[in-house]
Amino acid sequence: MPDRYAVIGNPIAHSKSPAIHARFAAQTNQALTYERLLAPLDGFAATVHAFIDAGGKGANVTVPFKLEACALATSLTTRARAAGAVNTLKFDDSAIIGDNTDGVGLVTDIVRNAAVAIRGKRVLLLGAGGASRGVVLPLLAEDPAELVIANRTVSKAVELAAQFAANGSVRGGDFASLQGRFDIVINATSASLASEVPPISPEVFDGGSLAYDMMYGKAPTVFMQFAAQHGAAVRDGLGMLVEQAAEAFHVWRGVRPDTAAVFAELRAGL
Ligand code: NDP
Repeated sequence: MPDRYAVIGNPIAHSKSPAIHARFAAQTNQALTYERLLAPLDGFAATVHAFIDAGGKGANVTVPFKLEACALATSLTTRARAAGAVNTLKFDDSAIIGDNTDGVGLVTDIVRNAAVAIRGKRVLLLGAGGASRGVVLPLLAEDPAELVIANRTVSKAVELAAQFAANGSVRGGDFASLQGRFDIVINATSASLASEVPPISPEVFDGGSLAYDMMYGKAPTVFMQFAAQHGAAVRDGLGMLVEQAAEAFHVWRGVRPDTAAVFAELRAGL
């Protein structure tokens, strides 16, 4: 019997994770199945336990259950504890190990795939929600000159920065008081879902900046259009999606799939 994995969320029909993991498994000759599980909004833990009882070996967790997954895990990796959120569960005998691969997915996509170094750079992170929390530690681990977190609800940006003050140069604030240009501007807000751009000055970008939107889709997001109009190179979050999946696959199976071919296939299918 092949090992069983799943992605758990609500809604879940749109998830590309089954297609990504099926390609990883074929490429690395791993015998596994990967399915979508729709958990009721009040039934995440029950869904996980039923999947474990049915022989599940691991699961990805998506909106809105990443915090609940963190609470459900019997142990957390360092990066999951820092994020306060879990997107990858590994079931090992009676243990439920919680991990977070979103941050390493983002950093790999920027540093390796986009060939943009973070070390020594000024980095701006827009948003202080779940996605943002997961990427702060991996970004600081790259040793940027400075990481500035800006958010609509300013207190959340300030608190998030304070939590990581011991890990590098990081501060939080509002959109209006951002000063100077940034080498890398990462949009981790959900504003693009509503076709809105966070109210930042175009002066944060110049011809040498990379503007990265965690959202992805067929067309460039409004944030990417705004950044491109002001000279920045732009990239959407499809690569982050594929890279966080590859890291989860490695956590479960101990092998690293080749992400480039899977990324190209997904891009062509959008
Ligand atoms: P959350 O709901 O946890 O956080 C949303 C954030 O966006 C908050 O900081 C919120 O500010 C801010 N925000 C919402 N609307 C606006 C607006 N109109 N203007 C300015 N700021 C706004 O969402 P997540 O952090 O989970 O997700 C954020 C984005 O990242 C989503 O688009 C998601 O699809 C994407 N994502 C992509 C991944 C990938 O693999 N590519 C992985 C994970 C997420 P406030 O605090 O003031 O409410």
